[in-house]
Amino acid sequence: MPLADVLYQTDAHRQVQLAISQGRLAHAYIFHGPDGVGKEMFARALAQLLLCDQPVEAALDQPTASDMNTIQQGCGVCQECVAVTNDSHPDIHSIYRQLIREHPDAALRKRKALELGVDVIRHFIVDKASFTPLRGKIKVFIVREADRITVAAQNALLKTLEEPPGATHIILLATDLSRLLPTTLSRCQVLSFNPLPNAFVRQTLSATQPELSPGHADWCARIAGGSIGTATVACTDDQYNINAKLIDQLVSLDAQSSSGISRAWIEESKSMSSKFRQRDPDISDSEASRRGLRLLIKFAATWYSDILHLLTNDDDGLINTTKKTQLQKASQRMQIDHAINAIRRCSLAEYHLQRNANTQLSIETLVNDLARLNTGKQAISAA
Ligand SMILES: [Zn+2]
Repeated sequence: MPLADVLYQTDAHRQVQLAISQGRLAHAYIFHGPDGVGKEMFARALAQLLLCDQPVEAALDQPTASDMNTIQQGCGVCQECVAVTNDSHPDIHSIYRQLIREHPDAALRKRKALELGVDVIRHFIVDKASFTPLRGKIKVFIVREADRITVAAQNALLKTLEEPPGATHIILLATDLSRLLPTTLSRCQVLSFNPLPNAFVRQTLSATQPELSPGHADWCARIAGGSIGTATVACTDDQYNINAKLIDQLVSLDAQSSSGISRAWIEESKSMSSKFRQRDPDISDSEASRRGLRLLIKFAATWYSDILHLLTNDDDGLINTTKKTQLQKASQRMQIDHAINAIRRCSLAEYHLQRNANTQLSIETLVNDLARLNTGKQAISAA
């Protein structure tokens, strides 16, 4: 995909084009922003431009662009560009934690790939960076989930980031800069990538999955917070219907139904976990079902946040737009401080689950508290 096709990332385009025109493109970048907004696409398109025999000027058809109308990009037709497009260019190296399974050391190949460890970083970047490019002018290393590089691996990478062997570019793709060491950050230039507009995510989903109803596509786009990747997973995992079921439970939630509903959430999280494990076989059953529960808690928080939007006459930020009748009914029963407390209570439960608290207890106390707030009482364990 050519560089100009990466939409809505005007700042990143501007900074890269300026750096290229001034001959000061950094050798180590961190592309920082949510998953699924075009960071990897941009990295590959930039690699194509750097490898291309005859870069061309292209119009940048960016709805939010201000002062930049054209950019340099790969021509798309030379041998180098074609190899990049076909994902077969030997000088573009994709680095990801599962590469451990291709490590020459048989013992290491058996390890779980939960993080990007020192063995992957040493063998697949540090060692290979010192080789001359196989066919192009440069080598580009694109590191997915760079915020999962272990501390030891970041330390092993420091020298390569600081002084990459000639003609080497390293691009780290990261969603959470706080997980990178200050020494890593200080050796890289950070480019920020923004969430995409909801309407664009919705259009993209509808184009790739025409069978989705407009309401379904709209919900997936809204819940994904500007990420095409997250929205696509939401569709694939049928999160729209899981959320609809959860909303029915929240609407009827009271002291009598709370224990049944917390059991139902735990069961639901187990069935969601098999989908997570299909995508990422290295995570454990319990971690996968925690992810499922955290997603259900996110849906619950979103429901109460929608109620808060209605209570404060701010309909624009609604996520559950297809549930307006239920939302209106629920908002008539709740006061603003109850909705705020319900959202806080969900954040607290999410925090506990992230820190490996007892799953069943966390969910039972959360659902109990939401039942109290639903019926106009204060939560017992809200922080
Ligand atoms: Zn080309």
